[in-house]
Amino acid sequence: MKTMEEVLRDWEAVIGLEVHCELTKLETKMFCGCKLEFGAEPNTHTCPVCLGLPGALPVPNKAAIENIVLAGLATNCDIEKHTMFYRKGYMYPDMSKNFQTTQGPKAFCMRGWLDLDMDGRGAEERYNLAALKPGDRDENITRTEDGYIAHVGITRIHMEEDAAKLVHVGGAEGRIEGATESLVDYNRAGTPLMELVTEPDLRTPEEARAFMQKLRQIWLALDISDCSMEEGSLRADGNVSLRRRGSKELGTKTELKNINSFKSLHDGLAYEICRQAEVLEEGGIIYQETRHWDPSTKRTVVMRVKETADDYRMFPDPDLAPYDLTDEFIDNVRAKLPELPDQKAKRFIADFGLSAYDARHLVEHRATANFFEACMQEGAAKAEFAKPLANLLINDIAARLNAGESLDADVLTPVRMVQLVDMLATDAVSSKQGKEILAAVLEEDKDPSVIADERGMKQVSDTSALEAIVDQVLASNPDKVAAYQGGKKGLLGFFMGQCMKASRGQGNPKLFNQLLMRKLGE
Ligand code: ADP
Ligand code: MG
Ligand code: ZN
Repeated sequence: MKTMEEVLRDWEAVIGLEVHCELTKLETKMFCGCKLEFGAEPNTHTCPVCLGLPGALPVPNKAAIENIVLAGLATNCDIEKHTMFYRKGYMYPDMSKNFQTTQGPKAFCMRGWLDLDMDGRGAEERYNLAALKPGDRDENITRTEDGYIAHVGITRIHMEEDAAKLVHVGGAEGRIEGATESLVDYNRAGTPLMELVTEPDLRTPEEARAFMQKLRQIWLALDISDCSMEEGSLRADGNVSLRRRGSKELGTKTELKNINSFKSLHDGLAYEICRQAEVLEEGGIIYQETRHWDPSTKRTVVMRVKETADDYRMFPDPDLAPYDLTDEFIDNVRAKLPELPDQKAKRFIADFGLSAYDARHLVEHRATANFFEACMQEGAAKAEFAKPLANLLINDIAARLNAGESLDADVLTPVRMVQLVDMLATDAVSSKQGKEILAAVLEEDKDPSVIADERGMKQVSDTSALEAIVDQVLASNPDKVAAYQGGKKGLLGFFMGQCMKASRGQGNPKLFNQLLMRKLGE
């Protein structure tokens, strides 16, 4: 199979996502008063409505509708005032009514959008980005200094109810294959579920991943769900097709169902792009089908051929009256909108002079963004603290959080963080030593100054002491100095290494660099 980079030279990938999110912060289910509780004893939170007993009448959960309107406002959607619930017919033991209650052609939230800031590795998959200059536009993207912004349309966010959970026993890994029994837990039946559908505006697996991550940050900020891909409260279906570069027609898509991690979303789509290209280039055709991404074999396999909309027999639910949202209701929800990650990033740039890159990455975790603000308050918002503080939070703290570590707020306090940043901002320790001190604070629960003293860490910024070292390094390597002056500029790294070594890692690298450049005649 070709690599994705090779494929994307000839083909354009077209990707659209369907994202499901359980509204886990609510007290009760979508159409009944049963309690929502993850991990409770099976079938303890049920009633005639969510068991689908004949004659039981559903009543919509107003708080759930508030949540979805909040989500719509946060992603630039129009709020549709007049909507209905529909019945989507299907027969499976996880839905004892034999239909799922969902929304029809008009959902509560329609026609939204999100802008994705793509940079670094995330921007590399985009085809021919080098042909654009900062500020240039091409279809839905705008080139930036370090990547591009992709404008992605949101078709709709609609409300539906989750099905019961099937538990397959006796087979491998809880799958139905080889199982001897299948059990049904109706606790999950009727859980309020939002589904967001994007326009087919995404062009790379990295964009799909960035979209999901941004959506998750927003929904976490709204506090409407715990958005846990591991526990299944957030999951995505990835739709993807290929078309020849230059063609405007959509190709036939396949759909990857129930993806439960950001990595699987990226890798599954990347695999599917390469697989489709191989089929098409050999003269084959792509069937519209649902496929399953298996991260262990790194392949997708067919689950089922797509059912058509007719099979569902959608029609308005006669048990639920058309739903009218008043302006007052929408305004009340709007008033509850918190500061969103993009707005927070703008404020950090304006108030603390952070770069756009730092601000964007700082707001990725609500915890680090809040901690940043607490530290800036502790340090009386000193401007020179912002940059080193942001660096530590983005590079060291966020990496730990991403790796699943949780940080003890009693150990890593703003007071300690500010002390460390002060040492960095005044060049008392090097940035490398700063990292070591941070790790030691977390491990030993001591103040940064104590750790620096104990380990004899100090950055030497006394120019005359450093100059002596530089002179000595240059004097003992005359051949390398000659080679450098003959054009081998890469040797600067060698000289730096020798100086750092001679100072036992305590020399200020910035000053070493300046001294070396001067003495080498640059
Ligand atoms: P379906 O009826 O198969 O569910 P939808 O029209 O509801 O298809 O679209 C589902 C998702 O697939 C949306 O995110 C949409 O943007 C995306 N999509 C639709 N057509 C294509 C296509 N040809 N290639 C890639 N994605 C597509
Ligand atoms: Mg669909
Ligand atoms: Zn119930």
